[in-house]
Amino acid sequence: MIPAPFEYYSPRSINEAVDFLSAHKDDVKILAGGQSLLPLMKMRLAKPGYLLDIGRISGLDTIVEDGNHVIIGAMATHAQIERSDLLRRRCSLLPQTAATIADVQVRNCGTMGGSLAHADPAGDLPAAIIALDAEIKAVGPDGERWIKAEDFFLGLLMSVLEPDEIVTAVRVPATEGEKTAYLKAAPRSSGFAVVGVAVRLTLDSSQTCSRIAVGITGVADKAYRAERVEKALAGKKLDLKAIEQAAAESTYNIDVIEDINGSAEYRTHLTHVYVTRAIEAAMNG
Ligand SMILES: Cc1cc2nc3c(=O)[nH]c(=O)nc-3n(C[C@H](O)[C@H](O)[C@H](O)COP(=O)(O)OP(=O)(O)OC[C@H]3O[C@@H](n4cnc5c(N)ncnc54)[C@H](O)[C@@H]3O)c2cc1C
Repeated sequence: MIPAPFEYYSPRSINEAVDFLSAHKDDVKILAGGQSLLPLMKMRLAKPGYLLDIGRISGLDTIVEDGNHVIIGAMATHAQIERSDLLRRRCSLLPQTAATIADVQVRNCGTMGGSLAHADPAGDLPAAIIALDAEIKAVGPDGERWIKAEDFFLGLLMSVLEPDEIVTAVRVPATEGEKTAYLKAAPRSSGFAVVGVAVRLTLDSSQTCSRIAVGITGVADKAYRAERVEKALAGKKLDLKAIEQAAAESTYNIDVIEDINGSAEYRTHLTHVYVTRAIEAAMNG
């Protein structure tokens, strides 16, 4: 359980980091919280010749307001997100989601940027940022670009990030006045979602849904938006029957995975149950 030898580099600026990445892009890994990368290196499933530690670049771990948005630095930890008063006030779905990740130790080290860049199909934050229509900022040798959350993930551990790009921030909308919830079914041993459901919901005074977004993780090779559920519920009065009927559409056209945690049939059923519960939790929250 000892990693293969590597050279360690710890730049103080994004420009230095990008230059280093460009120079070594076939043989370098970015080190953020290390919670996914270091186990892979210890098991020798990853053997980078160079580690680029972005932990000493100042300003990457801030959470700040920007008009009707909140911008979260890539190095903000899950624990920072969970405890942020600003996010609790202006974008409650993120603290709700971060609080469910693993244990305190992992949450103290793991980061927003690492979680997204790693593109684990069972990662929790991808479901939330997809439901929020967030944007991800990536910086590379040609400058910066903003990527829509829904376009970011390609599949198992794959994203649209280029090897010489660094995620530096995530921009989420302020959601005051909306109702949000994140619910997941997960084995105690890992905490990773078998099914995780993020809900963002606007209700009028008669409990009619004017807008709903549902992000799902753990079920397919990447997190996805349950568009048929959203379409089925928009403009409807939300009672249990309507929610259950819509939730049954949450795996429509999805290639549901199976693994040691459950068959595709079990996961499909669990998804319908958790979508129903997450929408109810958002309504009652
Ligand atoms: C015991 C355990 C339980 C866990 N349970 C959960 C869970 O329940 N839910 C969950 O969502 N996650 C879970 N995780 C994963 C955890 O959330 C990790 O923190 C996260 O997946 C990776 O974040 P990191 O900052 O540790 O990234 P690292 O491990 O440092 O990096 C992960 C990958 O992303 C790349 N990378 C990192 N930062 C950037 C960046 N800014 N730009 C570009 N590339 C970058 C790295 O090069 C590497 O390939 C668990 C981890 C452990 C060890």
